[in-house]
Amino acid sequence: MIYMLVGLMFGGAAFILGCAVYGKFKLKDNSMEKYERRALLLSAGTVASYATGILMKTEFLALLFFGICTLLECFAVLSVFFFVRQYIGVNKDLGIKKSIIYSAAIFDSAIMLINPFINFVFKAEPYYLESGIYVYRISDFMPIYTFHLIFLLIMGLLILIMLLSKMINAPGAYMIKYSTIFISLAVIATVSASHVYFRFMFDYSLLLYAAAAFFIFYYSLIYIPRGLMDRLLFFTVATMNDGIICIDADGKIVHSNKAAKDYCEADAVIMTLENQVKSWFIENIDGRTATRTWETQRRIEGIEHYYSIEYRRIFDSSLKYLGCFFLIHDKTEEYIKYHAEKYRATHDALTGLYNKDYFCEQASEMMDNNPEKDYYIIVTDVKNFKIVNDVFGVESGDNLLKKIADITSSVGGINCIYGRLTGDKFTICMQKEQFSEDEMLNAYSVLDSFIDNADFKIHIHIGVYEVTDRNIRVSLMCDRANLAIKTIKESYRSFVAYYDSRLRESFINEHRVISEFERAINEEQFRLYIQPQIFADGKIIGGEALVRWFHPEDGMIPPDKFIKIFERTGLISKLDKFIWELACMKLSYWTEMGLENSYISINISQKDFYLINVYDVIISLVKKYDISPKRLHLEITETAMMDNPQAQLELVARLRSEGFIVEIDDFGSGYSSLNMLKDFDADVLKIDMGFLQKTERQEKSHSILKMIITLAKLLNMEVITEGVETKNQVDFLAEYGCDIYQGYYFAKPMPVEDFEKDFLNVTVEI
Ligand code: C2E
Ligand code: CA
Ligand code: CA
Repeated sequence: MIYMLVGLMFGGAAFILGCAVYGKFKLKDNSMEKYERRALLLSAGTVASYATGILMKTEFLALLFFGICTLLECFAVLSVFFFVRQYIGVNKDLGIKKSIIYSAAIFDSAIMLINPFINFVFKAEPYYLESGIYVYRISDFMPIYTFHLIFLLIMGLLILIMLLSKMINAPGAYMIKYSTIFISLAVIATVSASHVYFRFMFDYSLLLYAAAAFFIFYYSLIYIPRGLMDRLLFFTVATMNDGIICIDADGKIVHSNKAAKDYCEADAVIMTLENQVKSWFIENIDGRTATRTWETQRRIEGIEHYYSIEYRRIFDSSLKYLGCFFLIHDKTEEYIKYHAEKYRATHDALTGLYNKDYFCEQASEMMDNNPEKDYYIIVTDVKNFKIVNDVFGVESGDNLLKKIADITSSVGGINCIYGRLTGDKFTICMQKEQFSEDEMLNAYSVLDSFIDNADFKIHIHIGVYEVTDRNIRVSLMCDRANLAIKTIKESYRSFVAYYDSRLRESFINEHRVISEFERAINEEQFRLYIQPQIFADGKIIGGEALVRWFHPEDGMIPPDKFIKIFERTGLISKLDKFIWELACMKLSYWTEMGLENSYISINISQKDFYLINVYDVIISLVKKYDISPKRLHLEITETAMMDNPQAQLELVARLRSEGFIVEIDDFGSGYSSLNMLKDFDADVLKIDMGFLQKTERQEKSHSILKMIITLAKLLNMEVITEGVETKNQVDFLAEYGCDIYQGYYFAKPMPVEDFEKDFLNVTVEI
């Protein structure tokens, strides 16, 4: 009987040891498992040393082994304590408490190890078996043994309380995780306690160690986590937003969640799961397919839903077919988000038309798909759109753009692509045969009444690029259509302008002219030419300053090739200041030559008034070269005068009061020439040469010319007629009372040196 007990104890110890070794190899090496293994090893030691103690033949050795047993038991309990803390997820550092616990354990161990020598904790006595053979057992417990008991009691209680409170707070599914350990330990504690109380012959509770070790080890670390994982997986799958249908190797549905059922019972296709799965197999999957995904859509409660469905076969580790599953993912939200984002990225927020990039992409695709068709890229632009925004408000501006977008998208019909390039620029890609200038202008003509103001009408300028080269990017085609618009930018009508290669060259040229300006000014490629002006008596004392550009490669470039470009870009002021200075230098030189009456007439561009302080510049020039202002004649075009009437009026008055001679240049070329005469006091009226050319043919114009000269006289102005080319013109102009002539009939513009040599201070025959 005793030997059976001892045998069982050794067996149990070996078993516990086995668990520890197994754990070492099979489990992860984290601190929880480390404590568990330690607890197992110590328990094995506890049981084994107790059994060895029983078998000893001397009291000393029996006491020694029982002591070792108690010592190991003490540390085993400690390890269980730390293991349980980890198991329930308490990671807080114990601090000083840990030292107290360890000190108690070390004290307990110390007394157990000293005990064999002085027997002050417990005693051992032989226990005689029937055969006369004896074994040892622990007999009397001294009071100091109570320390050991209290230590175990406290630790045991702490362990049980920790587990119990975790059990109470944890969700039901986790109950088994804690309850197994709790019950195992509670049983050991109870049996141990009863051993202490009843003083059994031997400590049978140690037998339970093996059983408890097994339970704790197996349930807590192997079985329960897996079982728990199954349950967790089950809940996860059941509550997942994705539908899942699992099918076993025989093709039977073994599991399906709610989302999968919802999908099958969607109002568009009410089907049972079985039928749905069958139809999938027929439509999408053959025997060899291991995985497949496809997209589908379904209407649920009136709302379109988008799904992706994934099919996957599953195999075990030896590659045996286990079954398959379908995963139904509702991607409606992603789909809507994706499309909203795509819409935002490809459409203009205000008008809903394609944005530039997307328009180019789509237009290019359409042209690629229809190589036999001819296309136009059309760009529209609102004249003075800025005024709409500034004067009538941004809301009006927005409404106008929306209206234009509506018209734009209705003009071409279905085979067109429309977009908004930027601001007030819209674009259309349409087949050439569908395009009609009249229809288009007509469609936009409804904008005439868009703004309720008789003086302000919306004009649309339309630029057309015929797609002759499909290899160039659509955005460049738009640029070209836009370039065509620039040629009609000043027009106060709705117009269609076509891009052609001439236009392209002119823009290339414009670009070149601008880029070369700076160098040209620095290298003094601009030179002063003078065209003589002849008084009625034939005397020449001055002329008009006209610039010429002597380009190192292109030779002499006349001003009509660059002045407009410089005006557009603002470079004109720099050039004008340069020419004005040359003129003043010449005047001061002529003074030295004793020609105090000579003069030069300089051109002031309309843009100069915006770009520089004309008054200051001119005053400082006459001061610098010490010339009398009356020798610098200032030609200001009538359009420049009308541009900002009040400011110009004041400026002209100031310049005249300084003594400058102010001439109204190009008179008769503008819209309200006569009207301006009443507002502006100038010294000279310079009749536009276009006017003269018209009078060549018409008698009526002669009367008008005569009347203008008379009118100028009445207003105390001198009259210069420019563009005089024939003797005939000189004759009738003389008859009407013209004071000064300028034109090819007398002389063309010439280098200033030629002028001073051949014409200055010379009298010619009239
Ligand atoms: P504009 O001020 O009206 O100058 C008169 C233009 O008419 C000159 O052209 C002159 O050569 C031309 N012309 C003179 N007599 C006749 C004639 O009998 N028949 C014909 N067909 N033409 C005649 P140009 O020199 O080519 O200058 C063209 C325009 O360029 C000028 O028109 C002026 O507006 C501008 N321009 C010239 N030089 C300057 C300058 O230094 N500064 C500014 N701002 N503009 C200038
Ligand atoms: Ca002029
Ligand atoms: Ca002129």
